[in-house]
Amino acid sequence: MSDKREKLSILQTLTVCNLKEICEKNYLKGYSGTKKELAKFMVDNLEISLEELKNICNIYQIDKLLVKIRDGRDHFLNKRVTIRGRDKISPIVDVGGHRVIINNLGKENFSYLCDDKCADYLYQVKKGSTPFCKHYAAAIAQLIYEKEINPKDKINYIEGQVLEELLEVVNQRKRDEGEELTHRDIEGDLEKLNTDFLDIARQNRTIAREKYHDEPENVFEDLVNRAFLLLDFDTIPQRSGHGWDIVLIAGRAVHPYFIVVECKTAAEGTYNYLVKKQDYLYTLKSYCLDLFKDKLIGAYKGYAKYMLLVAPDFPGETEGCCRKFKDITGFQLSFLPVPVLLKLVNKYRETPILNHDWIEPFFQKERVIKEEDVEEIFEHAEKEIDLLSERLCAKLRERFKQISQISGDAAFIKLDMNVVSSVLEEVISEMPELVIPERRGIVDYINIEHDYYEIWERILKKLGKEFVNILKETSFSQVKNTELKEDLLRMLKVK
Ligand SMILES: [Zn+2]
Repeated sequence: MSDKREKLSILQTLTVCNLKEICEKNYLKGYSGTKKELAKFMVDNLEISLEELKNICNIYQIDKLLVKIRDGRDHFLNKRVTIRGRDKISPIVDVGGHRVIINNLGKENFSYLCDDKCADYLYQVKKGSTPFCKHYAAAIAQLIYEKEINPKDKINYIEGQVLEELLEVVNQRKRDEGEELTHRDIEGDLEKLNTDFLDIARQNRTIAREKYHDEPENVFEDLVNRAFLLLDFDTIPQRSGHGWDIVLIAGRAVHPYFIVVECKTAAEGTYNYLVKKQDYLYTLKSYCLDLFKDKLIGAYKGYAKYMLLVAPDFPGETEGCCRKFKDITGFQLSFLPVPVLLKLVNKYRETPILNHDWIEPFFQKERVIKEEDVEEIFEHAEKEIDLLSERLCAKLRERFKQISQISGDAAFIKLDMNVVSSVLEEVISEMPELVIPERRGIVDYINIEHDYYEIWERILKKLGKEFVNILKETSFSQVKNTELKEDLLRMLKVK
């Protein structure tokens, strides 16, 4: 085969997006028409050696496999994978309604089948453009997770970087199930957001490809998810193309709530599709209702309250949609530009004083959320902390006043342990934002929110100061003899 023909056949294995990206990188302009025409145009006009082209192509191929692993991740993490036939070499695995039949795993004569409902399998695997579908990836993850196969043995098409990605998914499941304890990489995630978030939101394909090996749309969703994890929300991300992208769970609020999040990249820097096409509101409606709220049962339905669109920026006219959206769905819709979300995350990591109750007004704006709203939410939290501390201090002082009058002497404030625990209980019941009580059987528990350590520090400091003040005041005012002194006086008969 001549160099030109080989180049052409290599280029044709890539997607149109990939081809355009290569053109952009090589400052090649003026392309149009079908993929085939584009590939021909590139062969004629691109100054690139066959060797180089093979390398570039290889990177795209690996990235394609990485994407399959990530696409299969939801099936595996959400436990929709079941091993039906436990045969080390030829296992059968059900993945979310699809059956994956593997033959001769790790061998030369390997083959696998996914069922005919799988579009990936029909249009990509069978035609040779990609070696496996997302269901194969999810099946292998489950087999590794259940120790049916060893990641050190040969697994067809899954090796090197692709294997690492798959093992990371398996580890994620172990972490979710508490089997493996790892530290949160707060610094690392913050750094990623601060350097790449806005570029990715504006569809920078080069950064998405080189640093994250994926399309900017997918990377963007992942970064939005990380941002909300850094804000100490629980999240359920969903990578599949259809429906909402992320659900945020504010489970620690006194009245818990859920937020449906939709992520939108925009190459021009402003997401204005909704302005142009108001009908899109009905798609968002189905995300909130059909694909979310309607699936919930009982009290959980009442928790579904907010929808958030995240994009690099929004035009002001977008705001007209919010009232209409509330009328048709009952959800409060707001728009969150990436720079505002970044500011919120950075400020929160510096001063983590927002809990799920105090941050809630942020999602009730029903307009484009602004940087000033971030300042406001923190001021609001500061005020709440002050109010809470004042309430607790007043409670402490009031209780001590009652107790010390009846039981004190010059040296001690005498407290009955039952009274101590009742004081503690009262103090705790005053702060439902920070402590959640729970009864299991006949035992009462309290759940302390460890992410709110900064709030605790501020409140305990004030409470500690108040306690010291109470001691000081008592020390200055008490004149009553100690019991020890009274005893001695009696024995020595000093009058
Ligand atoms: Zn499949």
